[in-house]
Amino acid sequence: MTTRSGQCLCGALKFTATPKNGDVGVCHCATCRRGTAGSYFAIDCGDTLAFENENALGVYNSSEWAERGFCTKCGSPIFWRTKDKTVNIVSVNAFDDAGELRLDHEVFIDEKPAYYSFAEKTKQMTGEECFAEFGKS
Ligand SMILES: [Zn+2]
Ligand SMILES: [Zn+2]
Repeated sequence: MTTRSGQCLCGALKFTATPKNGDVGVCHCATCRRGTAGSYFAIDCGDTLAFENENALGVYNSSEWAERGFCTKCGSPIFWRTKDKTVNIVSVNAFDDAGELRLDHEVFIDEKPAYYSFAEKTKQMTGEECFAEFGKS
């Protein structure tokens, strides 16, 4: 895919990243929902995420293996990444243009609250199935 630009709400954090493919994932886990005020729509950009400068980059240590990046000025969530920084799952909503991206999979479907659901036909995985697939248990 082509490299895309993006930024936080206030513009203090500007970045570029190259999605591996057009498959958007959405995470329904309680951590993502609390941290993003919604379900987390994001795309795998491998290790291509690069910031113009990191002055306003905050990093929250959200679990043993992962951390979350956000703007310290406006609070916009930008990414979830593994601590070795090789896997960066970037917020689709932070990109300037979501173009031809499509909703492909839903993870932690077992933590999705009953008050919403999406009409798209997606591949759905429970938290347990996720950990098994990505080998992070
Ligand atoms: Zn900002
Ligand atoms: Zn999550």
